[in-house]
Amino acid sequence: MLVEARHVSFRYDQRETLSDIELKIIRGDFLGIIGPNGSGKSTLLRMLLGLLRPEKGEVFLWGDPVDKFRRWPLIGYVPQKAIAFNTAFPATVWEVVYAGRLGRKGLFGWKNHHDKEIVDECLEKVGMTKYAGQLIGNLSGGQQQRVFIAQALAGEPEILFLDEPTVGVDAEQQELFYSLLEDLNHNMGLTVVLVSHDIGVITERVNKLVCLNRRLFFHGEVGGFKARQTEILAKMYGHPVQMVQHHHH
Ligand code: ADP
Ligand code: MG
Repeated sequence: MLVEARHVSFRYDQRETLSDIELKIIRGDFLGIIGPNGSGKSTLLRMLLGLLRPEKGEVFLWGDPVDKFRRWPLIGYVPQKAIAFNTAFPATVWEVVYAGRLGRKGLFGWKNHHDKEIVDECLEKVGMTKYAGQLIGNLSGGQQQRVFIAQALAGEPEILFLDEPTVGVDAEQQELFYSLLEDLNHNMGLTVVLVSHDIGVITERVNKLVCLNRRLFFHGEVGGFKARQTEILAKMYGHPVQMVQHHHH
């Protein structure tokens, strides 16, 4: 078990934002977390990553209580709105990806041959090698997004958390992006947790799903969700939901 939430509740103010969340993420999962805007998706991620402390319940990472956990480099995180840069942002693509190595290095570690190799490999994986010397701010949203994935991968994580990664990315780039995540999951053994409000797309990509609106409305195999999706979504949104069908390949 990589990540576990046991009866976790949280509030920013009077109203409970997360209520009694039970969640398990195991190695190899490609987990989607869906829910309406304001349903607590980003809050849940922050909780799992130890950025917020639960009011009730406990979070475990690799079996350790989150406050005892020390192996943070195992976790990659691309926060929401990572691509909201202005075009003058003065770092190159290579430097942005290299920044993802820093958590793996000792205090006095100079950039060595191994680090350079990893950065180059990560750029290759996301198809951004030829942009290495360009300023990140000059790239499209989809390209920037791939650079941030490469940055997270440069830390050699075992699990990658992505919060609404396709907002502001055009349809064609999104397709490439999901294929990249599938490849990392299937072929590299990376565990992937993907937050989105695009239910139709997500359910075609992931193998497990969490439906969240303050509390959990579903947690399990995506097949189990599809068998009952009309009912689950109606409960989660509080009204019937018309699903838009998406087709791939
Ligand atoms: P989602 O990611 O699903 O859109 P969030 O986790 O960002 O939802 O937010 C859940 C709820 O908590 C929303 O009502 C939001 O307004 C509120 N919220 C989020 N962050 C804060 C904060 N820092 N302080 C107070 N309320 C917040
Ligand atoms: Mg959010």
